[in-house]
Amino acid sequence: MAGKRYNTEELQRIAALRERGLSIRAVALELGRTPAGIQSALRARGWIDAARSEVMTSVNILSPEQRNAFREFVCARAAQCTPTDIRNAWNKEAVGKQWPTVNNERVLYYLRASGLKKTKGEYMRSDSYRRRQSAAQRTRRAKELAAFLRTLRARRTEMYTAEPGVPRRKCHLCHETWPLSDTFFRHSGRGRKYFLKTCRICYHNLSGTAEERRKQRMRAYDRHVTVKQIPLAKAERDAFLHQHRNFPTRSCPRCHETWELLPKRFPKYKLASGSELYRKSCRFCLRADARLRERRKLETNRMQTTMLDHETRNLVEPGSQADFALPQWDLLKEAPIIKEAPIIGRPNGR
Ligand SMILES: [Zn+2]
Ligand SMILES: [Zn+2]
Repeated sequence: MAGKRYNTEELQRIAALRERGLSIRAVALELGRTPAGIQSALRARGWIDAARSEVMTSVNILSPEQRNAFREFVCARAAQCTPTDIRNAWNKEAVGKQWPTVNNERVLYYLRASGLKKTKGEYMRSDSYRRRQSAAQRTRRAKELAAFLRTLRARRTEMYTAEPGVPRRKCHLCHETWPLSDTFFRHSGRGRKYFLKTCRICYHNLSGTAEERRKQRMRAYDRHVTVKQIPLAKAERDAFLHQHRNFPTRSCPRCHETWELLPKRFPKYKLASGSELYRKSCRFCLRADARLRERRKLETNRMQTTMLDHETRNLVEPGSQADFALPQWDLLKEAPIIKEAPIIGRPNGR
């Protein structure tokens, strides 16, 4: 990727950040560059991991006997293991026998020569590949978090010095006290008016994987419905029925709540004759159904996308592991109830 040239200052920063163990991704974020750009800048200057390049160049010579044994070893495991698994297994045995150890490239060479090399997609599907990936991801995240924590602590010291009276908040989880500002706390809720009780570090820790975050958003929305929307509607209903004592009501067979017989509580549907009827279930129950349906659909789509990716893996450039862009459940996706158009044309009022 040909981007803007790196100046000396940037290169020094890259070196310093890598020294501190930050991932290429994290460095790219810091510098406002792409990870690919950082990678090629490092490669161009020979700043690659010394230990790793050591292994790459030290190819040990196998004797003819060892070579045959190695070929058999590789072929016997080709179906179940990834090249890395095979390498590790061989090297473990080799130490005892005082045989040469091998690197991944050599395993790949033998797999290719025997016509047993799998595609990237096949390896990506294997458990050991996934385990390694997620372990690597955890390590990366831990390092990034540690760096983030150091930065925040330094900022806090600066702020306390510059502005001793700044409002503070003790984080619920880590019990560290931070200045109550955007740098240290995220905002909560729809109005984005209040700061959360957990600091950014803990919030980040809690939020886990993309999948977990998606689930959290769904749970947050469900909570919002049960603790905010429904009680609000009930209060509204009570006040309304107090004023209009003989107003028709209907009990929802699902939630057993009695609501005013109004379109904002029970959606209507049209009969062939043109007349309209109220549906039997209340809007809250119908919307809960719709939500569940949409989530199931999303989940199915996601699985299909993953499977499709494996099927078309030959078209996918090796090394490209971009996350799937998924439509995500969002608090803002659902407009307030009152604004929703009535659902028309659903028979039998379910
Ligand atoms: Zn915290
Ligand atoms: Zn209901």
